[in-house]
This record gives sequence, structure tokens and C-alpha cells, in this order.
Amino acid sequence: MSSFTQGLDILLRQLRSLDPASRPRVDQSLIDRIKGLKIEDVEGPAETISAAVGMSSRPSGVVQPQPIPSITDEQELVPTDHEQRMAALREKALVCTKCPHLAAFRHTVVFGVGNPSTDLMFVGEAPGADEDLRGEPFVGRAGELLTRIIETMGFKRSDVYIANVLKCRPDMPEGSSGNRQPTPEEMQTCLPYLRAQIDIIQPKVMVALGGVAMRGLFGTSEPMKSLRGRWHSFGDIPVMATFHPSYLLRNQALTEKRKVWEDMLQVLERLQMPITQRQRNFFLSKS
Ligand code: URA
Repeated sequence: MSSFTQGLDILLRQLRSLDPASRPRVDQSLIDRIKGLKIEDVEGPAETISAAVGMSSRPSGVVQPQPIPSITDEQELVPTDHEQRMAALREKALVCTKCPHLAAFRHTVVFGVGNPSTDLMFVGEAPGADEDLRGEPFVGRAGELLTRIIETMGFKRSDVYIANVLKCRPDMPEGSSGNRQPTPEEMQTCLPYLRAQIDIIQPKVMVALGGVAMRGLFGTSEPMKSLRGRWHSFGDIPVMATFHPSYLLRNQALTEKRKVWEDMLQVLERLQMPITQRQRNFFLSKS
């Protein structure tokens, strides 16, 4: 075996021994081309070999590596560390039976949705009937309003991360179509999943939507009147407490919308996002 053949052999073995999670980061086309080399390619003139593996050669036959190929579209799809950790956590949550009554009642575990590398995370209380069927948080009427709030802030829904304290829809008596609030015990049992999500994302800011989410996160039973509009700390992460979107659906007063909007302006400021004059003025009464 020539020294070049030996070199290729060692290179291939090294590539094969790479951790599977990191392997796709290696230029796959280069691996394929090396694997596809025939013995005559390898034993042929240096120019042939160089062309086969995408290298140039000096007249002396010394193989010169070319600049590393630019990242291909395919490589951009390689999951990030955050995505991989979140996907692994999701797999666990999807089969959770810690609350047997909820596991028996649910259609799906509503794990969470969005960008696991985001700076901004929204936390609600628990899935309702719509979310339970779709497997995604905040997709009912309250969800549509939350999406509008997020977009008015200047984000896409997919830019942020949205999760609930409780991942399963609270069970209801047979025949009842409504939703109920999660109990403190249910939230306590489920909290490790939310903690793990927060730990993966490490958001710069969180928004707690409503008093039940605040109770789930902090164990507080203070009324929202005194909690909202203020910063709270979950570990080292600042949390803005604001009204739940379903409160805004029940109470359409401009003053209540403005309160939520002022909370979101505080969030944007904390994230050092640019705020337009138009944004500052939303939901201000004209008088
Ligand atoms: N309300 C919540 O708190 N979470 C949802 O996912 C839907 C409604």
C-alpha cells in the first residue's frame, strides 16, 4: 500500500470514528468522494487523486489542501446543540405518565414550540382543548391574540419560544367541552420539564402569561394586579408578569390592552430592541 493509500485509509477511519452527532459537520461530499475512490484512482498520478478529492497539487506532487468548502444548505440544516437537547427532552415528555389522570385524558403532550436558541420565551399555564388536539401551545383564540402581540413586538412566532407550565390538558368530566386551570400539584409535578426547557434555551427574558403561570413558576398566589408590569427573577432570568391573553379576550377595554402592551415595551427595552414611536403609542387613548 502506498503512503498515499495509507493516508486515505487513516483519514477514512478517523472520519468514520467521529461522533455521529458531529459527523454531518464534516463536508459530506468530501467523505463520499474519498469513499468512492477506486484503487486505480488512489494509485494513479497525484493530479487524478487530487481532482477526485477536490485538492490541487504542486508540480512536485505534494498535495495542497484547498480552502474548506463553504457551508452547504444541507449543513445549515444540521441541528444545533439546543435543538438536539430540546428534541431529546421532548421525546421524554411525550411519553410522560407522571400524572396518570392527565396521561389517560390527553390526546397529545403539548411540549412547546419555537426557537430553542431564542432570547425571549413566553410561558402560559396549560393547554386547552385546541392545543391538546393540535399538540402545540397557544393555537386557540388566546393563542391567536398572543401571536398578534408577538408580531406587534416585531417578532415572528417562530422567533420566540412558547411553552406552558403544564404540558397536558387538565382533565375534564366526560362530556364537558371546557377547560380548567391546572392544580398546584399538577404544575409542581410538570415543572421539571419547563425548568429543563429554560435551562436549554437560557432566554434573556421570559414573559409569564397570567396568574396561574406565575403560581407555577414562583409558587406565588399574589393577585396579578400587584404582580403584572414588574420584573421577577427565575434564577438569573428576568421574568415580566403580564395578563393572560384570555383575560384580554374577556376584557376588551383599551386600558387593559395598554397595560399588557406597556409590559411588552419593557420586555423590548430589556432586550435592547429598537422601538418605534408608533409602537410606543399603541393602545393609548386618543383623548
Ligand atoms: N392558555 C395557556 O395558558 N396555554 C395554552 O397553550 C393555551 C391557552
